[in-house]
Amino acid sequence: MEATQMLEVLEGGRRYDAVIAGRPISRRTFPVTNPATQNVFAHVTDCDAEDAILALRATESAFESWKQTTATYRAGLLKAWHAEIMRNQDALAHALSSEMGKPFTEARGEIAYAAAYVELYAEEATRVYGETFPSQHANKRLLASRQAVGPVYAITPWNFPAAMITRKVAPALAAGCTVIVKPAEQTPITALILASLWLAVGGPEGTLQVVTAADPLPVSKVMFDSPSIRKLTFTGSTPVGRKLYEQSARTLKRVSLELGGHAPFLIFEDADIDRAVHEVMLCKFRNAGQTCVCTNRIYVQRSIADKFAARLSEAVRNLKVGDPSRTDTQIGPLVDGDALAKVQRHVDDATSKGAKILVGGSSPGGLYYTPTVLSNVQPGMLILEEETFGPVAPLLVFDDEEEAIAKANDTPYGLAAYLYTRDLSRAMRVSERLEYGIVGVNDGAPSTAQAPFGGVKDSGLGREGGKWGLEEFLTIKFVSFALDS
Ligand code: NAD
Repeated sequence: MEATQMLEVLEGGRRYDAVIAGRPISRRTFPVTNPATQNVFAHVTDCDAEDAILALRATESAFESWKQTTATYRAGLLKAWHAEIMRNQDALAHALSSEMGKPFTEARGEIAYAAAYVELYAEEATRVYGETFPSQHANKRLLASRQAVGPVYAITPWNFPAAMITRKVAPALAAGCTVIVKPAEQTPITALILASLWLAVGGPEGTLQVVTAADPLPVSKVMFDSPSIRKLTFTGSTPVGRKLYEQSARTLKRVSLELGGHAPFLIFEDADIDRAVHEVMLCKFRNAGQTCVCTNRIYVQRSIADKFAARLSEAVRNLKVGDPSRTDTQIGPLVDGDALAKVQRHVDDATSKGAKILVGGSSPGGLYYTPTVLSNVQPGMLILEEETFGPVAPLLVFDDEEEAIAKANDTPYGLAAYLYTRDLSRAMRVSERLEYGIVGVNDGAPSTAQAPFGGVKDSGLGREGGKWGLEEFLTIKFVSFALDS
């Protein structure tokens, strides 16, 4: 079925079946809500342990043949999948925007970003090289090759319903692994459409399956208990990631964890203030602040703090909040009521402890939150400790480079950090000392398919993207040949 046809089905409020092992699974369903209207607009299969076992058997069987296909063949299918995703870019963006509230223009951007991973790994598939190396014994020849690690279980969050899927699935398929995806319960539809497009271009049955479920536990238990699943790749919150790391230990699965962040943005006094404001806006307000790399602490050098606060507040006041389906909307609703309550709790806590609201500070209704700037933010406020995941920019002040670095590193998280300066030596010095997996120098949006994405400390393990993302799905085999003497 074409993505556009699927959407017609969805818009009719009809149920949508998961396809496991090539069969529609449609016994039970759960509702999917549009955060902009808070109306249920589709019903999706609610898979249970029995369905998970079906998917497990299908992935085991598909892996036996998929791992033996040539890299060129897999690359060809990935290229076709990339083309099909881009051909359906608007339909996919519409589905994504409807289930998560991301403004349509931004959702189109996410589809292109998601497709870029597929294109990249179509190319990288053919570059999985082995090595030969010398032995100390004259009669031996040694080689190391890379092989698919095995069937993969991927669990993804709601905030990037397309990109978090392809960033895992494309390298896994390229490596010769088969994948079972469990998408977030808020955003299962984009995942289902992506999987159906894979099947439509000839992706073999069982190589990519999507197990949708309202409750992640019964399905996940089957996967964690199974020794056949050789790899867990998870993107989501740190507490859940920690739990899954423990559960993976029993069967010693390979594990990649892309977890939460608490990104600092350091603005030094030599910065071009307008450009710095532009980068902070990109970094903070994308997806209404609901990304793991959104800055949550903006430290500005004292001599420019007031000027920066005024310019940032002006830019934030001009953001267009509204219906995500309109092409000029910049800020849509938050994903659900819990997300909205958390943002309000952070703002209330900060203001009760002395923070000042420069713009925003409340909800205009529905699941929307008015883009907000807070000044006089101090240690001890919740907003400096937890991810806010909303459109709130907290401003703090620092006096010198040492203090800025110490404050930036003073968190258990280590995903992304940013700095703005025109001093090249300072940029190098500071970026080397920031304890983060990703550093944006004068760049508020560094993520790209070609680069390694991932964190240190409580932000996780492993990297996604570029050649590094492929390594996560490969294991090394050493073969020693002893020659006749
Ligand atoms: P979450 O951890 O609540 O859920 C993520 C996924 O895990 C969902 O699919 C959910 O169903 C599943 N899940 C939850 N509990 C589970 C369990 N016990 N067993 C198996 N599966 C379980 O996170 P979320 O609210 O969907 O996403 C927001 C979080 O994701 C934020 O912390 C954000 O920073 C993080 N995130 C990180 C990255 C990154 O690349 N580092 C990217 C996007 C989001």
